[in-house]
Amino acid sequence: MLENIRIILVNTSHPGNIGAAARAMKNMGLAKLVLVDPVDFPSFEAYSRAAGADDVLGEARVVKTLAEAVAGCTWVMGTSARERAVQWPVMLPRACAAESVKQAQQGRAAIVFGRERTGLTNEELEQCHALVNIPTNPDYSSLNVAAAVQVLCYELRLAALDSPIAQASPETGDKTLAAKHINDVPATADQVEGMYQHLHQMLEDVNFFGTHHPEIIMRRLKGLFNRTHLTKREVSILRGIYSAAQGKKAVRK
Ligand code: SAH
Repeated sequence: MLENIRIILVNTSHPGNIGAAARAMKNMGLAKLVLVDPVDFPSFEAYSRAAGADDVLGEARVVKTLAEAVAGCTWVMGTSARERAVQWPVMLPRACAAESVKQAQQGRAAIVFGRERTGLTNEELEQCHALVNIPTNPDYSSLNVAAAVQVLCYELRLAALDSPIAQASPETGDKTLAAKHINDVPATADQVEGMYQHLHQMLEDVNFFGTHHPEIIMRRLKGLFNRTHLTKREVSILRGIYSAAQGKKAVRK
């Protein structure tokens, strides 16, 4: 099920780090690399640091935004070297790997790594269900991004080896899904993003924001929804409620 887990690197500055991350992935049996707006890629340095993991680099998908990178994923974890102002649930790498492997049995999962200097923005963290922090020396907590990829990929491998259905293919997973009610499956990141946009629009339409900052309210609401890990059916019920609220407003006019 490791083939259902993508590693996403956001806006990486140094091509050497992209290559080292690809090598770390291949060592641990992961192959799906997505690069969000890399500063310098493809590059000779990335291939030279990949040391034989050029297939992972060659197949890496390059996209403009994190939203594109996580489209289709039902479980997204962000990595962080430090505490954040807004409270996302924070997991240790072992728990993160166990949960990601579990989620990858019935959908697609992603682990997102940030920029070398500044990590992930709050807006990017809002697209994650939870955060993972590698416990380090508090006086020197920030790992090189490829080293962080190595730690997480190692934990993913251990978790996959531990899993009773370690050999299940993505096709098997999809068939299992089809057997269940299709709406009971976890919502994908793009479905949830569409719901957020609808929620934002609805709150604007009913003049909810008033003097409050829409971004702050939306960040809180996204944190709330991300903690619950919504299903496709729940997203559709919520959107029905938003449409009804928008419709009521139209009636009142
Ligand atoms: N000042 C930045 C450091 C970025 S380090 C910050 O606090 O976020 C670059 C990337 O490496 C991070 O975005 C994260 O993806 C990963 N990383 C580094 N140290 C980490 C740690 N202790 N736990 C989890 N991820 C870490």
